[in-house]
Amino acid sequence: MSVRPKKHLGQHFLTDQGIAQDIAASLSGTGYSQVLEIGPGMGVLTQYLLQKSFTTHVVEIDTESVAYLTAHLPKLENRIIEGDFLKLQLSDYFADQVAIIGNFPYNISSQILFRVIEQRALVPEFAGMFQKEVAERICEKPGSKAYGILSVLTQAFYETEYLFNVSRFVFDPPPKVASGVIRLVRKKEQQLPCDTALFFRVVKTAFQQRRKTLRNSLKSLGLSSNLKEDSIFDERPERLSVSDFVQLTQKIADDSLPTQ
Ligand code: SAH
Repeated sequence: MSVRPKKHLGQHFLTDQGIAQDIAASLSGTGYSQVLEIGPGMGVLTQYLLQKSFTTHVVEIDTESVAYLTAHLPKLENRIIEGDFLKLQLSDYFADQVAIIGNFPYNISSQILFRVIEQRALVPEFAGMFQKEVAERICEKPGSKAYGILSVLTQAFYETEYLFNVSRFVFDPPPKVASGVIRLVRKKEQQLPCDTALFFRVVKTAFQQRRKTLRNSLKSLGLSSNLKEDSIFDERPERLSVSDFVQLTQKIADDSLPTQ
């Protein structure tokens, strides 16, 4: 018996063993001894992870998949977390560094990435399969249409690398879109040299109206007319690098400090 694919859980099961091996091989395996796979399904990727030198854990929301894994992958015993990754507090399960991998459910893949960024102190490496367009956006550099919130917030904390494309025809059932596999490696510096909450707010607000200049899109932040004369506000967000956004955040933070 195999698991019946459920659309609402984003279930598209990988059928190509070679690709499963390539994804498992995308983790460097250095700097951690534990790995958490999100959404193992029937364990096509898990079986190869279990052959590596690290300890593999999985988190799976689907009861039917959990029953399948319990029956077919006895090596996983006691290392199956049944639940929603988006609600998981990694520190409740892992005292030490843990890499994250998966062939992610595409309906929540950006949310998975944001949860990882929030919990980056525990996650030195993150690899896996996304919808191709999302994978590209995460890795994109400034100046292109695909460069946006996902690119800046990820690249603030991780080095990104686009590894390879995956056709939609190696899944059962095939998704509507092609896929891409990426790897993120955490930067040495885990903290930004600016107020991180404000940085997130500036990036999100700027890209909400990505065709406008920052002077217009950031109006809601209540900037002084003095600050708005700075030439950085003539730019559109897609031209700003991570460090430009850091500098912008510092300027905005200084601007709202009470004057003596
Ligand atoms: N890795 C498997 C399955 C990929 S489909 C393969 O490559 O074949 C995506 C998987 O994520 C499914 O097993 C689905 O049940 C699981 N999933 C969906 N939402 C989840 C969530 N919020 N937390 C954990 N797992 C989830």
